[in-house]
Amino acid sequence: MLGLMQDYPLLVQTIIDHAALNHAEREMVTRSIEGPIRRCTYRDLRTRALRVAKALRHEGVGIGDRIATMAWNTDRHVEVWYGIMGIGAICHTLNPRLFAEQLLYIINHAEDRILFVDLTFVPIVEALAGKLPSINKYIILTDDTHMPDTTLPNAIAYESWLAAHDADFAWASFDENTAAGLCYTSGTTGDPKGVLYSHRSNVLHGLVGNQPDVFGLTSKHVVLPIVPMFHANAWALAFSAPAAGACMVMPGAGMDGKSVYELLDAEKVSASAAVPTVWLGLLQYLEENNLKLPYLDKVVIGGAACPRMMMETLEKDYGVEVIHAWGMTEMSPIGTTGKLKYSSENLPYEEKIDLKLKQGRAPYLVEMKITNDEGDDLPRDGKTSGHLLVRGPSISSAYFKHDANILDEDGWFDTGDIANIDALGYMQITDRDKDVIKSGGEWISSIEIENTAVGCDGVAEAAVIGIPHPKWTERPLLIIVRKPGSDVSTEDILAYLDGKIASWWMPDAVEFIDEIPHTATGKIQKMALREQFGGYKF
Ligand code: AMP
Repeated sequence: MLGLMQDYPLLVQTIIDHAALNHAEREMVTRSIEGPIRRCTYRDLRTRALRVAKALRHEGVGIGDRIATMAWNTDRHVEVWYGIMGIGAICHTLNPRLFAEQLLYIINHAEDRILFVDLTFVPIVEALAGKLPSINKYIILTDDTHMPDTTLPNAIAYESWLAAHDADFAWASFDENTAAGLCYTSGTTGDPKGVLYSHRSNVLHGLVGNQPDVFGLTSKHVVLPIVPMFHANAWALAFSAPAAGACMVMPGAGMDGKSVYELLDAEKVSASAAVPTVWLGLLQYLEENNLKLPYLDKVVIGGAACPRMMMETLEKDYGVEVIHAWGMTEMSPIGTTGKLKYSSENLPYEEKIDLKLKQGRAPYLVEMKITNDEGDDLPRDGKTSGHLLVRGPSISSAYFKHDANILDEDGWFDTGDIANIDALGYMQITDRDKDVIKSGGEWISSIEIENTAVGCDGVAEAAVIGIPHPKWTERPLLIIVRKPGSDVSTEDILAYLDGKIASWWMPDAVEFIDEIPHTATGKIQKMALREQFGGYKF
């Protein structure tokens, strides 16, 4: 027997409708790319999102069309995002930090039709435009006054494009499983993979983000999403904040300590979220200028492991609660958050920090388990490490235009992380199965560096592993086995790599060893190498 409740599809446009009706006066504050601070309300934002939707419809955009954005966190980005999704088109957020070949691959693979681009990124797009046949319009997120001279074909200033359309428009209505967003991850081997979010997954994930032990946003919060919208939905904040009626402060292009501090202070921000590298920049700025954070209540730090010093300094010296979070693009991205449970409230401070430094526990709607190589479940004893598998309604079931099955027969997705889970449910990452390195929140492909390095004269074999780094979390170390009789040097190898890989992928050091350990199937044993180079310092 079916229940007798309304069939109310979970569509993301209902979030902005809700905010515009029930938190109409609540502000979104943006540090604009042009410079000045800009303010609008949720009511204004919805009106402009409807105009975007109407203008897109006028361009012939409909259900399933991919519309790309290469933009910072701004009010314009949010209205474009809701405008695209609200007609059943797919908002494809592009990460401008990827290098040219990756961007070309991604845009062409997605077959994006229109690209909305911030002023900052116009030069990046200009360099690619000749090789992007699917894009027939470039909309530059500015007004006519600030419109740059550009070689982009069919380019128009966003405000002029929008001016031709009013808000007399109704959102489209469709199935809640309709695709809403697309975000490619390069945190896998091979070409970047497209993670295709649905309206249902986004709405549910927005609610996951608002659970009290996750972001726990309320209408009283002023939230600064520093984590970009192109990093997996700004960790749900572009959905969770309007759903809660929290004020959003959008940082635009300013991620440095000074810019972040200015917004935290001037806008009395109470909650924020970013990768460790950003917090490091802020802490340095605070210390150099002898500043405090009187308004900031809590921050979520994730995307890479939160260092102990960072957590302790923010908590002890600045009175800011730190919530460590783990997740991934394929998980929308929230996987775990590390708020303490009632049972830990009376622990000594050091033990509390030990617990909070673990990657955290799963909120409702994320299931998590660890298994051994044979796929058997491992105990939750806080000691046994295994493959970390996840399941839930906001977790990928496949990649866009890829046939490969990415779930096991029971529907679990292997995260590629190696972890243990303790009896309280806290998960701790102990290693990584996937062959990538995370530097400043962005991925470096170790395999690509290895494949390039073996082309250098005198190199027999190459392996790259990530070494902990105080600023960037991890940096690549290149390990080389020389060919017999060769005396190829660090300088020779780095000179060879120069220009063949992205400059920020350049290994920080090269080490020479006699033999690289291999698995039975001939693959490099990265875990053994990581053990061998445990404690390595650049
Ligand atoms: P991405 O898809 O780019 O968000 O990357 C997801 C991956 O980043 C995870 O599978 C982890 O390997 C890593 N990661 C994310 N958050 C953390 C964290 N708090 N601690 C350690 N690694 C993390």
